[in-house]
Formats: sequence, C-alpha cells, structure tokens
Amino acid sequence: MSSFINLNLTWKNWNEMSRLFGTFGVRGVVNSELTPELAFKLGLALATHLGGEGKVAVAHDNRTSSEMFEHAVVAGLTGGGCDVLKFGITPTPVLSFGIKYFGCDAGVMITASHNPPEYNGMKFWERDGSGFERERERQIEEIVEREKWRRVGWREIGKVCAEDAISPYVRAMLEKVSEVESKKKVVVDCGNATGALVVPKLLSELGYHVISMNSHLDGTYPSRKLEPIPENLGELSKAVVACGADLGIALDGDADRSVVVDEGGKVLMGDRVFALVAKHYLRGRKRPRIITPVATSSVIEDVAAELGGEVIRTRVGEPEIVGEFKRNGGDIGGEENGGVLFFDWSLCREGILTSLKFVEALEKSGLKTSEFNRTLPLYHQVKERIECPNELKSRVLDSLAKKFSSYEVDRTDGLLVKFEDGWLLLRPSGTEPIFRCFAEARDEGRVGELVELGMRELKEVIKELKSLE
Ligand code: MG
Repeated sequence: MSSFINLNLTWKNWNEMSRLFGTFGVRGVVNSELTPELAFKLGLALATHLGGEGKVAVAHDNRTSSEMFEHAVVAGLTGGGCDVLKFGITPTPVLSFGIKYFGCDAGVMITASHNPPEYNGMKFWERDGSGFERERERQIEEIVEREKWRRVGWREIGKVCAEDAISPYVRAMLEKVSEVESKKKVVVDCGNATGALVVPKLLSELGYHVISMNSHLDGTYPSRKLEPIPENLGELSKAVVACGADLGIALDGDADRSVVVDEGGKVLMGDRVFALVAKHYLRGRKRPRIITPVATSSVIEDVAAELGGEVIRTRVGEPEIVGEFKRNGGDIGGEENGGVLFFDWSLCREGILTSLKFVEALEKSGLKTSEFNRTLPLYHQVKERIECPNELKSRVLDSLAKKFSSYEVDRTDGLLVKFEDGWLLLRPSGTEPIFRCFAEARDEGRVGELVELGMRELKEVIKELKSLE
C-alpha cells in the first residue's frame, strides 16, 4: 500500500489501490490516475509474470497519450526480459488477431475505448487472443503492489521490432466475408479513431460504395463522443439521409463495438445488431449456443428459437462471456452495447466483423435496412440510472429482492424481474456509484410502467437505507 502512496498515485481509496484492474483493464485520466510510471511498472510486472522471456505484442489507439504509454510499457517489458512486437496504432480486434498470427505469448492494448480523450487505459491479453482472466490480473496487481518484479541483466534485455498486423488481418477478413455485386451505399463514421484504418478499406474492397466520415485520425476526437449510442450519432444519421445511403455504421474508439443506422437515420441498438448478425451467422448450425449477459434484449431468444438453439445468460462484461465460452463452448456471444464475439474467429469483441457481417446479411436479404430490422420482433427499451453509494449496493439489492419476492426473478447479475409481457433489470454498476434500471417490453406504454416501477422501488430502498446510516 505504501508504495502506491509514495508513487503519488491518486487512486481514491485502498480498495481501488489494491485493484488496478477494473471491469476491463486499467483505466484512468492521463497523467493523474494513469501515469507512464504505472505503465512501466505494469510492463515490468507482466514480463516478470511471464518468467522474463517470450514475445509480447503491444498495440495502441490514437489518443494523444497512447504513444507515451507505449514507450513506457515497452521499457518495462524489455527491461524485464520480454521481446516486443509493436503493432503501432491498431484497433483492439486486430491486436487480438495479431497475438495469434505472430505466435505471441501475450498482448498489451493501450486504449480507453469509448472514454473521452483525456483518458487512457491498458489491457492485457492471453496468447489465445482473449482478455486476461481475473486471476492473472490479480497476480500482476500483486507484483506491482509488492514491487516483486525482476529486472534482467544487460545481455537479457528484450528486443523490439515493429510489425504490421493490419495487412494480414485485412487479408484474413476478406476471406471471411463475401464480395458483392450490388453497390450498396454505406456511410462509415469512425469518430476519428482506429476503425478508420480498417473498416472503410475493407468495405470498399468487398464492393460497397463507401462514404467515410470522421475517418482521419485525431486523438482529440473533435467530431463526436466515441460511445456508439444514439445521442452521439446525430451527424451520422443526417449524413445517411442526406447521401441517400442504404445504411450507416458507427464504431467506438477501439473498434470492438459497432452499431448501425438505417436508411431513415434511425439507430439500431447494439442488441438489435447482435441479434440480426447472429441469425445470419449461425444459420445452418446445429443447436447453436448463444452467450449473452442478462441486460441484452429478449430478441436474442427469438433468434435462438428460430435457429433451434439456446441462449445462455451471464453476468455483464466481455470476460464473463468469454469465460462461459471457455468452460462450456458456444457459437456466438454479444452484448447490448454492440460488442459481438464470433468464437470461431476470435475471443475478442469484433466491431469490424460485426459491421461486415451485418452488411453481408442485409445484402443477402434484399431488403432495406429498416425492413431487415423488422424481420425480428420489435421491443421497446428504456435505460435509466440512479445514484447509489457503493457501500449500500448489496443491501439495496437484498431489499429489492424482498420487494419483488412474489415475482419470477433471476439473480445472475443484479435483479432481473420477469413479467408476462416484459422484464425489469435492477443492477449495481461495477465501476460507478450508480444503480442501473433497464426495462423492456413489446408495448411502449408497458415499458414506461416497468421502468417507473423499478425507479420508484430503487428510490425508496436507497432513501430508507441512507436514513439508517
Ligand atoms: Mg471499445
């Protein structure tokens, strides 16, 4: 603990200090929460963890701080005896591919995904291209915390070489998706981030008429916020309509998530895209196994029913989906935010392949994007949140469980209350002092009622417990 304080790291409390890794890697504001000193230590700790040998792929997004962190983590890795392959500016799915392609022993991705430009982050990757398991993250934390790293002598310092992972990725991807004769017009909004290096090029090589916007790299991200959600995609919606395009595609900052805009400018949420892609991708497979967290729309159950497959619900988060796949197998995984995993391709959320498979499916359907969307039942969703101190979260959850004890509930993650005509999910955030309240129903009025009920109960319970403090 003392080592952290001496290092002047501004982690807010001991809990956070002892846990560098959040739900998906280390993340924080550059040069205050996440410093190059810490990146160096993490690099050295990873090298120590790997026994001071082996080859580690290092890639980064195009944030203004990313190259600084690359230098720091590479110094740590080589100083600890590992060789490094530097991929440079690369989307996360390309790093995952490159680790396997170049036979690396691990990988490091420097990115803060959809967070604002003042943030950055680091995530470690296994040799099979999946994110580090929790247990390995704990071991790295312990090395950093106790300064138990091992530096090597001058003869054993690792070698560094630069490698192009994007070209082999693009070649492999072109074999995975069919070329088309039609000239569908696609507007691609890369948000000035790394997807711009791959997605417009891939789509044009496949035969689509591509109009790319915000596709020059700019680490200050001037065009839009990076999270691909409707409130950040107004310009894309307008561009699709103005250009008379068939659809639009938006990616997040590291291209592991993508969503679609239809020809009328309406954003299809991530779980819609996931369901439509899953239906196309899994056609013809025997009893496909679809893995998704509890927060995903029931439309995925409709897809599974059509395909004669099953849906396995997990806790929220990519590691949960990958963990379930590793334990019991599966065909596809996906999240409500537009992150889809194609297990026969990689063990990483694939915003790039998702967008290509969506366009391919659309092409085969012969429908307009809005019509294609309506080939699956429509659901209405409302997503709300309420502030809740972290220390109250588990008691709030227990009280809610009592309140809803006469209903059918599922406690995989938070509290999922099932109704005849919809569901309500009350779930504490793993990263922020808030409780989330999601509702879904076929009927728009009903979803309003459900979310109102959820928020009312949440407010009451939080107020009650606060008054007891
Ligand atoms: Mg991302």
